[in-house]
Amino acid sequence: APAETPQVVLDAHGLPYLDKTLPVRKRVADLVSRMSLEEKAGQMTQAERGALSNAGDIAAYDLGSVLSGGGSTPTPNTPAAWASMVDGFQLRAQATRFQIPLIYGVDAVHGHNNLVGATILPHNVGIGASRDPQIAYQAGAVTAAETRATGIPWDFAPCLCVSRDDRWGRAYESFGEDPALVESMETVIQGLQGAPDGRDLKNNNRVLATAKHFVGDGGTDYGSSTTGTYTIDQGVTRTTRQQLDAVHLSPYRAAVKRGVGTVMPSYSSLDLIGDGKGPVKMHARGDMINGELKGRMGFQGFVISDWNGIDQIPGDYASDVRTSVNAGVDMVMAPYAYKDFRSALVAESRAGRVSEQRIDDAVSRILTQKFRLGLFEKPYADTSGASKIGSPEHRAVARKAVAASQVLLKNTGGLLPLKKSQKLYVAGSNADDIGNQSGGWTITWQGSSGDITPGTTVLEAMRKNSSRITWSKDASAPLGGYDAGVVVVGETPYAEGVGDVGNGNDLRLTEADQATVDKVCGAMKCAVLIVSGRPQLIDDPQLAGIDSLVASWLPGTEGDGVADVLFGKRPFTGQLPVTWPKSEAQLPINVGDASYDPRFPFGWGLTTLGRAPAGGGTALKALALAARAAERAGAQSAGRAIVTRARLIVQDRAVGAGITEAVSKPFAEADRLLLTGRYGAAVDRLSAAYRAA
Ligand code: BGC
Repeated sequence: APAETPQVVLDAHGLPYLDKTLPVRKRVADLVSRMSLEEKAGQMTQAERGALSNAGDIAAYDLGSVLSGGGSTPTPNTPAAWASMVDGFQLRAQATRFQIPLIYGVDAVHGHNNLVGATILPHNVGIGASRDPQIAYQAGAVTAAETRATGIPWDFAPCLCVSRDDRWGRAYESFGEDPALVESMETVIQGLQGAPDGRDLKNNNRVLATAKHFVGDGGTDYGSSTTGTYTIDQGVTRTTRQQLDAVHLSPYRAAVKRGVGTVMPSYSSLDLIGDGKGPVKMHARGDMINGELKGRMGFQGFVISDWNGIDQIPGDYASDVRTSVNAGVDMVMAPYAYKDFRSALVAESRAGRVSEQRIDDAVSRILTQKFRLGLFEKPYADTSGASKIGSPEHRAVARKAVAASQVLLKNTGGLLPLKKSQKLYVAGSNADDIGNQSGGWTITWQGSSGDITPGTTVLEAMRKNSSRITWSKDASAPLGGYDAGVVVVGETPYAEGVGDVGNGNDLRLTEADQATVDKVCGAMKCAVLIVSGRPQLIDDPQLAGIDSLVASWLPGTEGDGVADVLFGKRPFTGQLPVTWPKSEAQLPINVGDASYDPRFPFGWGLTTLGRAPAGGGTALKALALAARAAERAGAQSAGRAIVTRARLIVQDRAVGAGITEAVSKPFAEADRLLLTGRYGAAVDRLSAAYRAA
């Protein structure tokens, strides 16, 4: 605890809510019964750290929470400075009548990403490509441990968006375009929070999670360019009730079952076809927040608004406040307007436009989580886990996740994995840039190119594997005499909005990137790695000139994971979590579309497997294995048949689930057969299983 002693106005000693042997429910009821309306409204208010020029405002306005908006960091940006900053705010909260602890929140969306030196994991799109729930779990666990070790108990993650259009600037925050895939990655919630009943939240390596953005954030229309503005981010999701349920609501049902502590409404509007309401901002949709989330799904946690999210509701501020709170928002992220929000809420309540019951419900929900986190007993940072921040152990977890996230899209002539004996020519804008390989939401909100935090670039990692590398970023060094080229290109960082497609650009590589690819691939056999948050468009002639193509997504600080698959230390096993389009005209394109003719389908991913993936592998991985094995064994047509079948399965989830179930046994057996090298028998097994199904 900080040296300064808090000025306790009232000694709460002996009051029931401080008795940790009582059930949380009783403690909450006792405390709420003692609080004034102002204190309750304060609990429901969240301010931004940078707005608190006077930390005394925490006590003066009874603030329930403070946040660091993306990239709002203390100086210096070190674990110790974070912990002492949070403790400093907490100290002020301890000076209030009931010493109600603050809950501090950050966006730790791929590791404790605001902190220099933290382990930066792949963004969600890469985790989705791994198809491995265990990897999602571990990513959550590393994030939680590093975040809580700096005194922060609350994380505005995971994003459960089902991203349906690559032109959305938040596409990389999505685990993929398919709700079943998103749901399977929700083990991340257990990594963050621990057990679904919340019993682990007191531990110094867990944080409260936030499922966001409820609901339909990934389903917005791209909008029109006639006004020069694209409305895909924070725009309108227009859908039928049935589609909303199947695509966007279902990940929330799963998250509630996993005990997610908080939910954040989306900036977007929902236009439910047939309900006659037209587009309504999600922060105002009581039918969804109260009705679906808290009602039908039985969500017991609290709802935190998005940053100034209530301001987008039509009407004056008083109406924004009552509309959102009555719709079920429990705490409002009013970063700079915290005083206004609190007083408006008090006034609306006094005028009878927000009921006392609603306020008590909101405050009870917030306090319940504070009790579960153990903040009343231990309000200050427990930094005993700080030595784990950016530790070799955590980086090893991230490295494994990176390797599992790499998707091999094309591998003509088996160029990958590379051999140590080969002379390599490495080039490209994203080969040696930690900032670019980490993307947005890294150190700053938008992220940035360059050496922004310690880590290993793809080039540095490759150099650990080979001493025969010539590096020339723009491929200006002489090209002759090499066995193979590796060109790493792609996007530069961005967050929210439309990324870099807003100014009439498209998802093609930049001209400079294209020139580097053409130059190297024109001179030798080449592998192209695309480091980006979403698919990049590659036309036919260019693709024809590339021997091996890899979707590397935004791997974060551990470039070693990329080198591991490039040099065959680990097999490529990743599968596309989103459809890879041929052209911009195809967007939006999603598996299950009536006319589906992508460059690479959802689920696509070649493998360089010599052995089955850890844990036996899923049915689809077994399929990929079998197909590859069939190829190797010379059974080309059997291999092709299996791939076709696999594509059909991933395209038709309903049928897919049934088939997967039906053939799980033979698949496991097939895995074994593949391991022992009896490929032919494995293929026969699979074919028979398919016929039976
Ligand atoms: C984003 C949220 C984020 C919040 C706080 C908003 O702009 O939409 O995802 O949690 O900022 O940083």
